[in-house]
Amino acid sequence: TIQIFARVKPPVRKHQQGIYSIDEDEKLIPSLEIILPRDLADGFVNNKRESYKFKFQRIFDQDANQETIFENIAKPVAGSVLEGYNGTIFAYGQTGSGKTFTITGGAERYSDRGIIPRTLSYIFEQLQKDSSKMYTTHISYLEIYNECGYDLLDPRHEASSLEDLPKVTILEDPDQNIHLKNLTLHQATTEEEALNLLFLGDTNRMIAETPMNQASTRSHCIFTIHLSSKEPGSATVRHAKLHLVDLAGSERVAKTGVGGHLLTEAKYINLSLHYLEQVIIALSEKHRSHIPYRNSMMTSVLRDSLGGNCMTTMIATLSLEKRNLDESISTCRFAQRVALIKNEAVLNEEIDPRLMIKRLQKEIQELKDELAMVTEEQRTEALTEAELLQLEKLITSFLEDQDPESRLEVGADMRKVHHCFHHLKKLLNDKKIFGNNTVSNTVSSESKDQDCQEPLKEEEYRKLRDILKQRDNEINILVNMLKKEKKKAQEALHLAGMDRREFRHSQSPPFPPGNPEEGQRMRLSSAPSQAQDFSILGNRSSLLHKKT
Ligand code: ADP
Ligand code: MG
Repeated sequence: TIQIFARVKPPVRKHQQGIYSIDEDEKLIPSLEIILPRDLADGFVNNKRESYKFKFQRIFDQDANQETIFENIAKPVAGSVLEGYNGTIFAYGQTGSGKTFTITGGAERYSDRGIIPRTLSYIFEQLQKDSSKMYTTHISYLEIYNECGYDLLDPRHEASSLEDLPKVTILEDPDQNIHLKNLTLHQATTEEEALNLLFLGDTNRMIAETPMNQASTRSHCIFTIHLSSKEPGSATVRHAKLHLVDLAGSERVAKTGVGGHLLTEAKYINLSLHYLEQVIIALSEKHRSHIPYRNSMMTSVLRDSLGGNCMTTMIATLSLEKRNLDESISTCRFAQRVALIKNEAVLNEEIDPRLMIKRLQKEIQELKDELAMVTEEQRTEALTEAELLQLEKLITSFLEDQDPESRLEVGADMRKVHHCFHHLKKLLNDKKIFGNNTVSNTVSSESKDQDCQEPLKEEEYRKLRDILKQRDNEINILVNMLKKEKKKAQEALHLAGMDRREFRHSQSPPFPPGNPEEGQRMRLSSAPSQAQDFSILGNRSSLLHKKT
């Protein structure tokens, strides 16, 4: 659960006696009792109670110095941050109750340094002591005023009001992680560098404050130490954040106004504190599925610190003067609710791929060395010429061995095993190529004996050409013969006279009827075969037909 502490501020004037008492029995949980003076208690209409008791982890009375506060509250949180957990310390209380004094410190004396400078000092001291890990530290300082975020570590020193500072906005990734856009992270390698950043931020915070915006009472300031660590040679990086939060004044306005009804329901002047309370209530109630973190920037930023992956501590600052009793009671009530919240802090580890490669390379080298020790031979990347020859001999004899039980023994050396496979593959491929050659050789040798396909074609072609020549000759002879026969036929026709013309017409249907002149011409110019119709050369008709 979130740890709650109370710190009572020394009074400006001497406290009236008997306003509060602290019960710090060793065996019991410490409790703070606020006792209402007669005159105040009488004012409560419905509530005649004269005292209120609140339990805290520890209560620090007026005389508790800054050192005590740091040792008891901040040091354990800083310790877990150094281990890789997220941590948050926030101060809650009305204006003037000592929040800034507790978180940042007083400016007058060195001993008034608050939690931030002391924590920085402690963290850097621890980092120097611990040589087993490599650490990187970054600082950011955010002010939230009126739902707007401002980067207090703007190095330009130009800010004369908050609006001059870079505006920080919230981005939410698909995994619902909150990212702050425009909030710069400044690396700090020494305590001095980190303190300078705190000083820069506080200066900007003061410059930006005007009586108009009452920034110090109305705004929240979140100083964050981002710590990443890794062991040398490890690929795992741990990230941890420590938020040191100075909240806005928690004072409320009584709904019913003044006049004795001091402890009646009241509302916050600062809206985001109202939302903070909503979140706290939601978190402290069991079985609440929706937590309204998104209602304000502050609850979004502190999301992990409230009901998330964080070790969270709250300091309720109290100014137990008579006029502040109602606010003090409100603060204590708020703390009681906060105490119900359970957080679950986990180590924020992630693997850096670059570091992973380095680590694996180292591991390979170590394994090689180990192997060399066992086999008593230094292993290099490649096999030697002699080893390769030896292997090839082994393969050859293995392949030639007709014994089906024979084995190829190369020992437990993956390089040799791989080489054997490669060599076998090469042999197999060579064999394939060689095999193909054999086939073509056979063919060509066969062609020498039996004629291959190409010369065979050539031969046939020649034969066919000869046949064709012969046929041409035959045809020429036939044509000449025909020409002679035609001449004879024409003469015969001429001699036959008109009587035979009728006969010719009925006997030769291929000639179109009609103009006898035309028919004559066509007959004369057409193929010689036409002549057979009326020629007497019946024995040649088959030959002529073939020619056509
Ligand atoms: P807040 O930030 O809550 O408004 P501050 O931290 O500014 O209050 O405190 C108001 C004043 O009281 C400051 O002047 C501060 O120095 C003083 N003060 C607060 N707490 C203590 C303390 N424990 N011891 C001495 N002075 C204190
Ligand atoms: Mg303050």
